[in-house]
Formats: sequence, structure tokens, C-alpha cells
Amino acid sequence: MTSTNKKKLIAGNWKMNGSLAANAALIDGLKAGMSHPACDVALCVPSVYLAQVQQLCAGTAMHLGVQDLSTHVQGAYTGEVSAAMVKDFGVRYAIVGHSECRQYHGETDELVAKKAQAALAAGITPIVCVGETLTQREAGQTEEVVKRQLAAVIHTNGHCISEIVLAYEPVWAIGTGQTATPEQAQAVHALLRVQLRAASSQAERIQIVYGGSMNAANASALLAQTDIDGGLIGGASLKAADFLSIISAASELSV
Ligand code: PEP
Repeated sequence: MTSTNKKKLIAGNWKMNGSLAANAALIDGLKAGMSHPACDVALCVPSVYLAQVQQLCAGTAMHLGVQDLSTHVQGAYTGEVSAAMVKDFGVRYAIVGHSECRQYHGETDELVAKKAQAALAAGITPIVCVGETLTQREAGQTEEVVKRQLAAVIHTNGHCISEIVLAYEPVWAIGTGQTATPEQAQAVHALLRVQLRAASSQAERIQIVYGGSMNAANASALLAQTDIDGGLIGGASLKAADFLSIISAASELSV
């Protein structure tokens, strides 16, 4: 039972994986194994596949998400995709500030905050990622880093902060198979909750999800933690059986 009695969210992050054929096979497998999950489910897919995945997931419990979006509304921004464009495809969620975008595209805390703002303005729920690197954890800076990252999003988005999903993704756990222990993850989620409470009277209803090598074997223990309201799943979201197991673990713990 969570302290806040809310539905959990399981969001798959396909990253830069997929093809028309592979997506169809994966979604077929998910549809075959999923009836009426008690948790929220989302697939954050490469934007080029939005039309395909929208069509294949129509009438199912799977919501559509993207992995990034532009801070701009429209215009001369070659290569960028706006929130309104993805909204046209029924997108409900947008990951912003994933550590791979922060690292490879040099995204700052302020840019991430503006991406969250652009999503919210279009009626899309941003899944805002925060998390420390291994060096930062070993230097005892975890709290300072995640609080700084979240503070920028709170500063830019004010009371709308209650409309976000927050993802704690320790960078050292992403794609490495090295998952944070349930206790390590819960400790960070708890301090993020405290920060959200100071910013919003609606903090209890904000889903704070964990990401970083969550899989079928470790999902239940992580999701059972008081402040872990779901998962952002990379590698395991590409295998129907694994993703379905995580969804069932979250459904059992959802209210
Ligand atoms: C992610 O990409 O957000 C992620 C958590 O990846 P993985 O589950 O593969 O660690």
C-alpha cells in the first residue's frame, strides 16, 4: 500500500529502438497478455512511429508517449518536434530531461524546465527525469543534485508542478543492470516528495516513478516502497513478457 493510495504508472522508454515490424510484434505481444491493468501504462516511442503505435494501441489501456520535445511552438528549428505536433497523435506523456539527453545534448536544468512547461502548455504530462551520476553519488552529492534539478522545474512551472510525473533515474543504474536497492530509491523518492510538498499542496498525488534497470525480477520490491509510484522502463520494455510482468506487479500494488 502506498502512503498516497494512487495508481502506479509503468512507462516504457523504447529509446532509439524499433522498426515497423518489430513494433507491431511487440505491441501484438503486449495486447495478447494485457487485459485491464489497474495501473497506468504508457509507451514512449520514437516520434517517427507515433502514427503506427497510435493506430496499433487504439482502444487498449496503453497510452502514447514521446521521449523528448522542443521548447518552441513552431518555426525555424530544424530537426525539432513540437508539443502540439505530438499532441496531434494523441500523445499523453513526454519524457523530458532524460540523462541521455542531458549528457549527449548538453541539456541544462533550465532547458529541461522549459520542456516541461512546453508539454504542460499543450496538455501533455511531462515525465521529468532527475538523477545523479555515480561520481556524484560517491561524492555524497545525490541529494543536492536531484534537488537542484527539481528546483529548476518548480521555479519555471509554479503551481503546475502538480501536473507532472517525476522520474528518479540514477544515471549509474540506467542500462547497466545495476539497479538501486529499494531502500536507496525510496530514500531519494522521499526527499523529492518533501521538496514537492513545499512547492504544492497537491504533492501527494504526483507520481514519482523509479527508472534504472527495473525488470521483471526486481519490480515488485521497488514498487512496494512507499514513495515509488511506478517505473520508467528502458530495456525491459522492449520484451513483451518482461514488460507485462512489471505491469502486473504494478497492478497488484495499485489502488
Ligand atoms: C531509461 O532509459 O529510462 C531506463 C530506465 O533504462 P533501463 O531500464 O534500460 O535502465
